Amino acid sequence: MPPIPGSGLAKGLAVTLRTMTKRTVTAQYPDVQPELPPRTRGVIGLFEENCTVCMLCARECPDWCIYIDSHKETVPPAAPGGRERSRNVLDRFAIDFALCMYCGICIEVCPFDALFWSPEFEYAETDIHELTHERDKLRDWMWTVPEPPALDPGSEEPKEFAAARKTADKLRAAEEAEAQRAAEEAEARQAAEAQQAAGAQRPVEDRGAEGRRAGEDRGAEGRRAAEDRGSEGRQADEDQGGEGRPGPGSDRGGQP
Ligand code: SF4
Ligand code: SF4
Repeated sequence: MPPIPGSGLAKGLAVTLRTMTKRTVTAQYPDVQPELPPRTRGVIGLFEENCTVCMLCARECPDWCIYIDSHKETVPPAAPGGRERSRNVLDRFAIDFALCMYCGICIEVCPFDALFWSPEFEYAETDIHELTHERDKLRDWMWTVPEPPALDPGSEEPKEFAAARKTADKLRAAEEAEAQRAAEEAEARQAAEAQQAAGAQRPVEDRGAEGRRAGEDRGAEGRRAAEDRGSEGRQADEDQGGEGRPGPGSDRGGQP
């Protein structure tokens, strides 16, 4: 049966009309960022502080794309009389995202919650070597990891919360002790400086007082000497006056 003329046009217009009334699904990326589900597997972030270099993730990774280097260090005993301990120190942690198949096994097996999924996906590179993210870059991804979902009401508090609180309390106590020690040191330093300044001022005052005393002594001596000289002079005058005046019984007074 030959097609009815204009039926193709009518069909096309019907499709256009149908899609015009439907909600659009086109994502305007990169002008508009997509809204991704919270558990999106975009990139892996490393929370280095939690990593004990147990190597479980590297061993379990099916692609062998996790590279870890470490060395051992001896740490002094926590309490006096205790034993020295040795611990692993992380030197390198890298994930090659050119090999990674985003299975999530490494995150699942990590016993210390050191690896997390981040929904970030914009890290395409023109050089494949750049897709090996070293520890600093993996740490930076941690800032993009979404918060864990809220706990069910009435559920038990996770042990990590209590451990984190204990660590924060310890840190705060150490900071307070340090601040108090610094304040005591500053106070002691100020007191020592004030004592030093007082010690330097005393000889000057002593010298002044001695000078004043010596001046007063010299003045007193001078006054005494002047008084003595005055009294001697008066005595001499009196003596001379006595000799010059004719008395009633004197020879000169008896002459006619
Ligand atoms: S997601 Fe899978 S493939 Fe990728 S690093 Fe982790 S274990 Fe390896
Ligand atoms: S499994 Fe976790 S703790 Fe162990 S090496 Fe990997 S990231 Fe670190």
